[in-house]
Amino acid sequence: FDEVLVEGSVLAHYVAERNHYDELLDELFRSSGEARNMIGSRCIWHINSTAFGGGVAEMLPHHICLLRELGFDVRWLIFKPKEEQFFQFTKALHNSLHDVKVAGLKDLLPHYLEASKKGAAELERIIRPDDFVIIHDPQPLVAAAKFLESHPHPAIWRCHIGYPKRTPTVDEIWGFLGEYLHQFQRIVLSAKEYAFDTDVPIDIIPPSISPFSSKNRNYEGPAGETLDHSVSFNGREFEPTPSLQDILGSRYFLHVSRWDGLKGIDRIIAAYDRFVKSAHAEAYDTRLVIAGPDPLDVADDPEGREYFEKCVLLCTQLSKEVRRRVYLVCISMKDHDANAEIVGRLQQNAHGVFALSREEGFGLTATEALFRGKPVVVSSAFGLKRQVVNGLNGVILDEPDIEDKAAEMMHHLAVGYSDFEEMARTARERCLRSSTQISQIPKWYHSMQSALS
Ligand code: UDP
Repeated sequence: FDEVLVEGSVLAHYVAERNHYDELLDELFRSSGEARNMIGSRCIWHINSTAFGGGVAEMLPHHICLLRELGFDVRWLIFKPKEEQFFQFTKALHNSLHDVKVAGLKDLLPHYLEASKKGAAELERIIRPDDFVIIHDPQPLVAAAKFLESHPHPAIWRCHIGYPKRTPTVDEIWGFLGEYLHQFQRIVLSAKEYAFDTDVPIDIIPPSISPFSSKNRNYEGPAGETLDHSVSFNGREFEPTPSLQDILGSRYFLHVSRWDGLKGIDRIIAAYDRFVKSAHAEAYDTRLVIAGPDPLDVADDPEGREYFEKCVLLCTQLSKEVRRRVYLVCISMKDHDANAEIVGRLQQNAHGVFALSREEGFGLTATEALFRGKPVVVSSAFGLKRQVVNGLNGVILDEPDIEDKAAEMMHHLAVGYSDFEEMARTARERCLRSSTQISQIPKWYHSMQSALS
């Protein structure tokens, strides 16, 4: 385990922009008073498996800052076993929970259990009696459960993964995880449709974003040249190498995600290919930018590198005319602020944002784009379509033939951007009201209080 130190002040920003957040702030302060009485001075530990990359790492820093400013003692631990097989197992588990059958899961299980056992022993040295434990996702679940078995603490399992259908593969995994949930008083899921069979009560708290993080804040002026050190293109083989400023100044469609087959990156590349081939000259002013973490930097995602190579291969198979307009942007995870600024600037300047995931538990990148007031086009993957009301704040594309539909949408965005402007405004307003972190904190209090009572 490594502890991540979280410092900073977030609350003051909300207060300074009170006109947007008035009612939410009132509710926040009212509920914080009650929660302080109940939670008192006990330490609240958030435990997940990565400090950078992915939705959980994105949400925790400002969530933790806010709670600390509201008078709670909150700390953040990363469970990061060195064994590669540990993360191969959890990635396979993640895929299986989305009904993608993975061979070799059983062979990897002993590595996961062994690392979890060591983790449990380490937790005994870190967690003090009375502390509150919030575990994120399956990676640290078993380590925590084994620890809690001999050292009961108030505990919540926050599962960010969700799949709205029941299938034998999915049920088998829930059955496996369910064995370790008896030590928890509550489970938090992103949507009620993700509920599975368990005796542990479930609370629903959708993910949320911080308007003031370096990802989501508004950027003025040009990007500094130093940011260029944090990006590489198409496996470092893009000729001539563009600068970030060049991309930001152009017209482009954007997709942001980890390099992962479920994210549907291949579908966006195929859609763009069709768009450029079938559309009119306007197409040639419009690029496609696909941004994700440098796969070499992401330890908890062993498939990332492989999938990235697949995307590079897909690009090399495109005609020269199309290929030179597709940018696979790998962003270094070594400098977190630079990563956030690059993603934030790419989102801010995009002509339209696409998220065509095959499966998606929530899709924070769609929330980020909605929050920025961008035209957002999503697939009907459950976690995406629940954020969008088709035609009101974005566009939902149904299966099948999603590539054709996305190509048409690219054309529409290229020639009729003004048709999307009202939607984009609505998207931002709705996000300000219901997707910012202060809107969700009262729900967290409720869950923690229920765990304690
Ligand atoms: N992200 C990032 N840098 C990248 C790619 C993604 O900071 O290079 C962030 C992205 O902005 C979002 C999160 O990682 O906040 C991904 O969350 P999402 O729910 O979309 O996907 P997950 O990775 O959790 O499946």
